[in-house]
Amino acid sequence: MSISHYDVVIIGAGMVGATLASLLSRSGFTVALIEAYKPEPFDTEAEVGLRVSAISPGSAAILEQAGAWQQISTQRSRPYRRMQVEDGVELDPLLFDAPQFNLQSLGTIVENALLQWSVWQVVSSAGLVDIYCPDQLDNIEFSTQQNHVSLKSGKAITASLVVGADGAASGVRKALGIRQDHYAYNQHGLVAVVGKHKPNPGVAWQRFLPGGPLAFLPLDDGRSSIVWTRPSAESEHLLAMSTEEFIKELDTASSGWLGRVESCGPRAAFPLSMRLSESYAAQRTVLVGDAAHVVHPLAGQGVNLGFADAAGLVESMISVRCEGGDFGSATMLQKYDRWRRSESEAMAFGMHALRSLFNLDGLSPLRRVGLALVKRSWTIKDIFLQRAAGVGKNAPQLARGVKLRDLMQR
Ligand SMILES: Cc1cc2nc3c(=O)[nH]c(=O)nc-3n(C[C@H](O)[C@H](O)[C@H](O)COP(=O)(O)OP(=O)(O)OC[C@H]3O[C@@H](n4cnc5c(N)ncnc54)[C@H](O)[C@@H]3O)c2cc1C
Repeated sequence: MSISHYDVVIIGAGMVGATLASLLSRSGFTVALIEAYKPEPFDTEAEVGLRVSAISPGSAAILEQAGAWQQISTQRSRPYRRMQVEDGVELDPLLFDAPQFNLQSLGTIVENALLQWSVWQVVSSAGLVDIYCPDQLDNIEFSTQQNHVSLKSGKAITASLVVGADGAASGVRKALGIRQDHYAYNQHGLVAVVGKHKPNPGVAWQRFLPGGPLAFLPLDDGRSSIVWTRPSAESEHLLAMSTEEFIKELDTASSGWLGRVESCGPRAAFPLSMRLSESYAAQRTVLVGDAAHVVHPLAGQGVNLGFADAAGLVESMISVRCEGGDFGSATMLQKYDRWRRSESEAMAFGMHALRSLFNLDGLSPLRRVGLALVKRSWTIKDIFLQRAAGVGKNAPQLARGVKLRDLMQR
């Protein structure tokens, strides 16, 4: 049996893995992409999906270089120029407006299904990536020159670099024996599509309530996609109640914002946790996206961190290749690990601290001082915003607007 060899084998074609495949193949690397399930074609006539993501301007720039943003931004997606944060105790909301930070928008709300389908279409239609789907990782044999990957179908591949983009339960991470710190929040994120009396004017609104934040993210048609973080037992109760009862609860929780809740579609809830891997790279293998880190969704950063991993990896690989080096070498892996792990950990702990601050009793002096500081300090707001927008000083160049072809010419 002949064994195909690639520069890179990516396990997992979720939003992050497929984007990485597109960026790498457009940079001239040979790529194999292994995915268990082919995504469903996105149907613009179907009801809005329950899973949406707030895509940062930095991620939009990365997706543009991957060839997918044009299709995403002209379909069912909604940019937002204002973020409004309320703490349920203080009267004045905390406002972030895009122009104050020299940004056109603070982000774009996109259905995950549209994102995944758009990137999948790019990689499958360009003919630059060999896709093995449906297929699954069976085993990896690590060695110094190249890794041997065997698939459940019986096929075998070799690669100079293997990438685990296979989500939170990553088999690649397990094969590497990389340990993870896992912090279960004992909370669920309840999601639904909700219509209020007034249409959402393009504002990402979030109110911190005892037990967890409630977010309304603007959709294309004036409705909002909500993420309501609740203690797990309570979220089960909210899922089980009738639509009318649920609307009453949601009305109370979001009172004063755009009038009454007038419609609510099906609901679902996802367990929330923080998972941080002790390393993101070893033995000619790297981890990207949820395979490497899972963060609390309160600032909508999970997949954005994953896109930054993908862009950071491509940037590092192009630079090593330009210098005639080995992009699977221990030096290259260490560089990627240090860079991306420090960024993700800073974000994960930032979310953790913010969550803890808002979880303090409303009258707690620490909470009052913390919030007053965030409100008054332009520096804190600016650092927070630059990071959330994915364009901070440590962000990959692709996120900061540099084009792939310019990276290759440097
Ligand atoms: C309630 C909630 C709200 C969220 N909101 C936001 C938000 O607003 N913004 C944001 O940035 N993030 C958000 N997130 C986080 C975001 O959804 C995740 O970070 C993102 O989906 C991770 O993408 P991924 O491609 O890394 O992994 P996944 O989406 O898990 O993809 C992994 C892929 O690998 C495949 N796979 C797995 N194992 C194998 C194998 N052995 N062989 C072959 N294929 C395999 C799977 O089929 C899958 O396609 C939210 C999360 C939750 C729970």
